[in-house]
Amino acid sequence: MVRLVVDLNRCQGYAQCAFLAPEVFAMHGEEGLLYNPEADEAQREKLAQASAACPVQAILVEAMDAPAEAVSGER
Ligand code: SF4
Repeated sequence: MVRLVVDLNRCQGYAQCAFLAPEVFAMHGEEGLLYNPEADEAQREKLAQASAACPVQAILVEAMDAPAEAVSGER
């Protein structure tokens, strides 16, 4: 299992993630993003690509244990 977090305050709905890892991310309407926070291990590589492709770096993989300030504070 791969844990991930999307900072939805940062997400601008570019949908790069849904394109690269459709099993994990899905767009819901114009800007709403739905995702599976506990993705299958087989999705790890796609998740890394999606995370790297996100224009606003909103996808944090394996970041569940990070303090909330670290998630929202950096950059
Ligand atoms: S690629 Fe980033 S900005 Fe675009 S929908 Fe996914 S998380 Fe949001």
